[in-house]
Amino acid sequence: MLSQLLCFSASPALSVSKNYLLLLKPLSLARATVCHLSTTTTTTTMSVNLQSHAFAGNPIRSKTPKPSDPFSPNSALETLKTQLLETTHQINSPNFKVLPFRKGRPLASNSSASDALGPNWRLGWIGLVDCKLFLAKCGIDLSYDSLVYLGSESAAEAVYWAVNVAEEANLVPEIGAEKFCFVELRTLMVATDWDDQHAMGELAIAGHARALLEWHVTSRYCGNCGGKTVPMEAGRRKQCVNDLCKKRVYPRIDPVVIMLVIDKENDRVLLSHQSRFVPRLWSCLAGFIEPGESLEEAVRRETWEETSIEVGEVVYHSSQPWPVGPSSMPCQLMVGFFAYAKSLEINVDKDELEDAKWHSREDVKKALMVAEYKKAQQTAAAKVTQMCKGVEKGQSLSADFNVESGELAPMFFPGPFAIAHHLISSWAFQDSVNGFQSQPKHAGASMSNL
Ligand SMILES: [Zn+2]
Repeated sequence: MLSQLLCFSASPALSVSKNYLLLLKPLSLARATVCHLSTTTTTTTMSVNLQSHAFAGNPIRSKTPKPSDPFSPNSALETLKTQLLETTHQINSPNFKVLPFRKGRPLASNSSASDALGPNWRLGWIGLVDCKLFLAKCGIDLSYDSLVYLGSESAAEAVYWAVNVAEEANLVPEIGAEKFCFVELRTLMVATDWDDQHAMGELAIAGHARALLEWHVTSRYCGNCGGKTVPMEAGRRKQCVNDLCKKRVYPRIDPVVIMLVIDKENDRVLLSHQSRFVPRLWSCLAGFIEPGESLEEAVRRETWEETSIEVGEVVYHSSQPWPVGPSSMPCQLMVGFFAYAKSLEINVDKDELEDAKWHSREDVKKALMVAEYKKAQQTAAAKVTQMCKGVEKGQSLSADFNVESGELAPMFFPGPFAIAHHLISSWAFQDSVNGFQSQPKHAGASMSNL
């Protein structure tokens, strides 16, 4: 099952020397029991406190407006239909902002405002009128059912939409002097400054939009009768047009368990290396949940299948939406756990993994401390800037994810955009932060022995 996952197949290689400690603030009560960390440990360690995982914490969809609200999906759709018939923007109507995508890539621009802080990016939101003009240049009429509702911001009286521009649309919108380009979401993910809440919010919006648009592409026909499906509720669901069927179809989510297997007695963790990984990248085990299986059962089964390690106690850590997998799986949900080993002898399933080994806390800490995650982020951000200026035309995943230079570290882990990073770093630093013991209090964990 793991071979189907793309989640860590192309994580960035990182150069070494500076020290970063990347911590995730507890997101929920459940996770607070296992991730009670804060601030720095040493004078040479930089602490970066994320508010939430990459792709979580979407600022425009925390609450869906009530149907009577002018910014609700159905009200906004009615206004949209009216506006598309107009030739000019209505002054008193909500401010509609559209994010175009091509082949799963959102429109983006380099952000000049943050020059002093290094390169950054922002999403290429365009107005409805500009969007109509842009699509008209490509020979496409913008219709209301091609726009997908993303959310709203009532304070700004803004409603946000996404639209797929067809592959034949090779044009890139030119709005004033600003330069835009379509950028791989994975590139934006690596390029996002995780200390910048606005950028993290933009990434979450782009991830949600990509997941919805990809799902619209792959759900054009009813799985029940084969009839056509049409968007409903401003693209938030679909429905079969066959009157005898009328099946409702909802956006697809593919849940995946991802677990850090811990040998408590010997203070080690089990990490794996896949043949598709860049050299020296090690990460957590992961796998899809099967029908009729609980999350805990999936953790135990996947660990057993891939390494022959038996897992006992399973403790929830946190979860992360992952909309950067294959288009056939528009949004995976990574559900992260600490899994406590009952047996220690590893027998690797070579069909799934190239290798799996126990790693000491000391080695894991060292690897986390020497990796230059910030440098990798800034390199990716500089690349987005170059792309938007038209300097860099080609995009390839291998180029995006190989920013390694300088000394070679014996091993490194996925960057802070991935839940694996936070599972590993929470465990590695949980014993010594601020001089107090923050060992997980497992005794009362509700899921431990289900
Ligand atoms: Zn049907």
